[in-house]
Amino acid sequence: MQYGDYSSDALMTITNRPDLVFVRGEGSWLHDHNGKAYLDFIQGWAVNCLGHCPPQIRDALVAQAGTLLNPSPAFYNGPMIELAGILTANSVFDRVFFANTGAEANEGAIKLARKWGQVHKGGAYEIITFDHSFHGRTLATMSASGKPGWDTLFAPQVPGFPKADLNDIASVKALINERTVAVMLEPVQGEGGVIPADPAFLQALRALTRERGLLLIVDEVQSGIGRTGTLFAHTQAGIEPDIMTLGKGIGGGVPLAALLAREDVCCFVPGDQGGTYNGNPLMTAVGVAVLRTLLADGFLAGVRARGEYLSSRLLELSARHSLGGERGSGLLRALILDSDRGPALVKAALEQNPVGLLLNAPRPNLLRFMPALNVSEGEIDQMIGMLDALLGQ
Ligand SMILES: *Cc1c(COP(=O)(O)O)cnc(C)c1O
Repeated sequence: MQYGDYSSDALMTITNRPDLVFVRGEGSWLHDHNGKAYLDFIQGWAVNCLGHCPPQIRDALVAQAGTLLNPSPAFYNGPMIELAGILTANSVFDRVFFANTGAEANEGAIKLARKWGQVHKGGAYEIITFDHSFHGRTLATMSASGKPGWDTLFAPQVPGFPKADLNDIASVKALINERTVAVMLEPVQGEGGVIPADPAFLQALRALTRERGLLLIVDEVQSGIGRTGTLFAHTQAGIEPDIMTLGKGIGGGVPLAALLAREDVCCFVPGDQGGTYNGNPLMTAVGVAVLRTLLADGFLAGVRARGEYLSSRLLELSARHSLGGERGSGLLRALILDSDRGPALVKAALEQNPVGLLLNAPRPNLLRFMPALNVSEGEIDQMIGMLDALLGQ
């Protein structure tokens, strides 16, 4: 499309974008270049946990931008130390490495597990992952992912990621051999269609990995940072993993991610891991603002309450239109449709007038909801009203 003096043709095509340019956002609302408003239940793919342009993030960016942008990853900075301290004080992990994207954090988790395998397990390097999992778009994280078709796209894959079936402990056991070093999974498969790992499965996986001397890695890039109603999703199953990755919500919309590990797993030595922007104060200052907001009294309880509310409203909608129910955790939920009309509904919701609605269909028969964690009940009602009208068409 033409936009002012320039054409969108100057961009590589990596997805089919509608002919819209978003110019402004506030809370649960986005505005395009024609002045149309959209109620946003995608929020940058579960990224903007405090909504669009929240004052906490704006203030943190402005203050930090006027103080110190980037002393170099070879030096400490204040926000980096503070954010690592907040994360370790609120989790079972002892140390943090900051990254810029979820894929990069997962790549770091894979490297850490392989290093641990070299040091402690005779060079074991295989990491068991799961069908329909999503861990990112670098070569190694695509290889770790269980997305159909990704095994041949950009072949050859990075070796060492045998795939088990989620919620099937026997399928994991069957893949363990002397080369196995870890098991890695999402507590709730997000891109795969909002499929939660059962608490009993997570507990069995923790027991099995302990018994066999394997690391348990949880990819909480989507499920973490309050998305499922607790700071991290794995705590709901009462398990203590060895390694965790965070992304998306931790930056509230800016590029920030993290790799966390327990002390006995932290075997990187100087030179093993790094990156130009890793731990830069501009982004970690935002992470501090996000975490302080989420950890304030009542915030996560509010997420749980609105998660329940969204769930009950989706169930009503499902009953009224004879759909297949809903599933998910906290404010990461999916409505199961009666046919493969997800993509058509997403398009109709976007094009609805005078106000559009932004939704996502991770599978053709599902709609996924990942609103801001501070979305209001009124905004949930408005979304349900719009979706109700679309489903009736
Ligand atoms: C989004 C996502 C990633 C990748 O994060 P990027 O920041 O896009 O690299 C990895 N794992 C999970 C579970 C995700 O949802």
